[in-house]
Amino acid sequence: MTAEQIYSLGMAQIGLVFFLASFRIQLQAQHRQSLQLLQALFFFDSVSWVLYVWPEQAFVLALSSVASAINTWLVLAFAIRRAGLVVKWPLLIAGMLIHSAYYSYYTFLGWQSFAMHGQTIFTLLAIGPVCWLFWFKKQPRTFSDQLYVGAMLVWLIVCLSRTLLLLFAPELLLSSLLVSQVIWPGVMVAYGIFAITSYMEETELRLKGEALHDPLTGLLNRRGMLETIRTCLSYLQRKQHPAALLMIDLDYFKKINDSLGHDVGDLVLVEVAEVMALQLRESDVLARFGGEEFLLFLPQISEEQSKIVAERLLAAVSQLDLPVLKPSAQQLSISVGIAHFCNQYDFATQLKRADQALYKAKDLGRCRIEVAAD
Ligand code: GH3
Ligand code: MG
Ligand code: MG
Repeated sequence: MTAEQIYSLGMAQIGLVFFLASFRIQLQAQHRQSLQLLQALFFFDSVSWVLYVWPEQAFVLALSSVASAINTWLVLAFAIRRAGLVVKWPLLIAGMLIHSAYYSYYTFLGWQSFAMHGQTIFTLLAIGPVCWLFWFKKQPRTFSDQLYVGAMLVWLIVCLSRTLLLLFAPELLLSSLLVSQVIWPGVMVAYGIFAITSYMEETELRLKGEALHDPLTGLLNRRGMLETIRTCLSYLQRKQHPAALLMIDLDYFKKINDSLGHDVGDLVLVEVAEVMALQLRESDVLARFGGEEFLLFLPQISEEQSKIVAERLLAAVSQLDLPVLKPSAQQLSISVGIAHFCNQYDFATQLKRADQALYKAKDLGRCRIEVAAD
């Protein structure tokens, strides 16, 4: 066996390893199609290298070129699906067919320079958009996605440098081919690893998001709020800036559940969360603390200002006109307990103060605001 043949077999194995590894990924349904495309492209990559083990047979070489062209366009199809866009198959298949026909024809005839130039142009056409999609269109864009783009760019540079050398310095081409043979396995390994790990990073991000958010209202949950304001609290403490923690509870919410059902109760919670969020600034942090209780953190605010914010929330909720509540004729309202602070920045302590103030507001008749005493 020649060194070339061993090299091709090694490359085929790299594709095979990622082909098999990609079956181990477990995903949500929306990722299924992109994963199938990833499997298909690794498959064609492997096939193209296996066929390349017999480069003296023009026909086998042409077939290998077809598989390699298909692989290139599948990389684009994969990137389009990964970016959450719709693959325009007629266009993509047209690119695949023209590329395959051109590349295999000139490979079959043994016109290496024609084959190489065409290969560069088609690779630019297919892989250029891949970089663009992964960099600008994919959401969320993980660290692996960025490295994936890096591997793609190296692929483009290798193709482009071959063509340029062939045009302007053909005497250097042979040594450049040797260099690219060294680079190539690295590119393929990087590209396989980062394509696969970007799925995992995305799942991790999603789980983290779910752990910090309330699924019903989409607001932060208790843990989410704590994580979000932790650094802000220590900054405020260092600067001795004031802040306020507001505990907000819906009045007589049980009645809504009892008379109209839990589903209506849920809908009311979503509407109330939305209308309150609309009253706030970007730096304010609103969370669903549990049940029908919300927590609002207002950084760098005076006691007077925090009362004004609370009044705005009270008015906004009271003015909510929800058709689902019509049958019960119940007026929506909230009670608010405010803990304003400028020297004690312990979250638990302020939470307790806000809760006590809320309790007092409930005691004094509801639909009102109480500020915790110093
Ligand atoms: P108060 O004015 O004293 O706050 O009266 P209330 O009826 O609101 O009393 P309380 O705060 O004790 O009751 C909260 C109720 O909220 C109890 C529970 O049935 C309901 N609840 C808690 N979580 C949810 C939820 O996710 N969805 C719905 N629909 N109801 C919830
Ligand atoms: Mg309540
Ligand atoms: Mg409550």
